[in-house]
Amino acid sequence: MKLLIWDFDETLGYRHGGAWAASLLEVLQREAPDIPVTLDELGRYTRAGFPWHTPETPHPHLDSPDAWWEALEPVFRQACEGVGFDADRAFAMAKRVRPTYLDPARWRLYEDTAPTLTALSDVGWTHTILSNHVPELSDLVEGLKLSGYFARIFNSALTGYEKPHPEAYRMVLRAFPDATARWMIGDSFRADVQGAQAAGIPAILVRRHHPDAERYVATLSELPGILSDAD
Ligand SMILES: [Mg+2]
Repeated sequence: MKLLIWDFDETLGYRHGGAWAASLLEVLQREAPDIPVTLDELGRYTRAGFPWHTPETPHPHLDSPDAWWEALEPVFRQACEGVGFDADRAFAMAKRVRPTYLDPARWRLYEDTAPTLTALSDVGWTHTILSNHVPELSDLVEGLKLSGYFARIFNSALTGYEKPHPEAYRMVLRAFPDATARWMIGDSFRADVQGAQAAGIPAILVRRHHPDAERYVATLSELPGILSDAD
């Protein structure tokens, strides 16, 4: 069998309007519409503290969705306090980030996602997702009507291993021992390309160029051509 390992976020789908700082901003604008806060101000607080910012540290102890989200609450509280809210309001607002981020109406597919997955399935590729994400990733994938494409979803929030940790990739390889061809496809040079290559899996960078990437395409629709040449 021939296996494609896909990143999810900003490769197959994305949160419309932005991810973490944008979710915080939505919460603050809803709860305190009169207080002016910008995305840039909040962005300062979302650049660290998430599990994927420290992929060298596995987190199997965050073994339920509630535990995973609770571990992030200090980051959200700090952001709210940083832009001027008191501790009580920051605590309440931090609790609102989860449902806001997960709002299904915010999640979108890129136009080329479903057609490319279909085209590649038709020529015999099996699809999986390997994503650094939130515990509810499979619900988001389901909401986007994408579940039927994937043999399996490997989600760091459930496994405890963030790409580019080698164990994240080893889990996929162990689950598909019969794969004769394998490719990783994603938008992050570090997590998707370098991580995969370190595990012996060739990779294609998509959507976001990096000068050191050996293989890059701007759109997924270019992938069937590349993969048939490589096959
Ligand atoms: Mg990504």
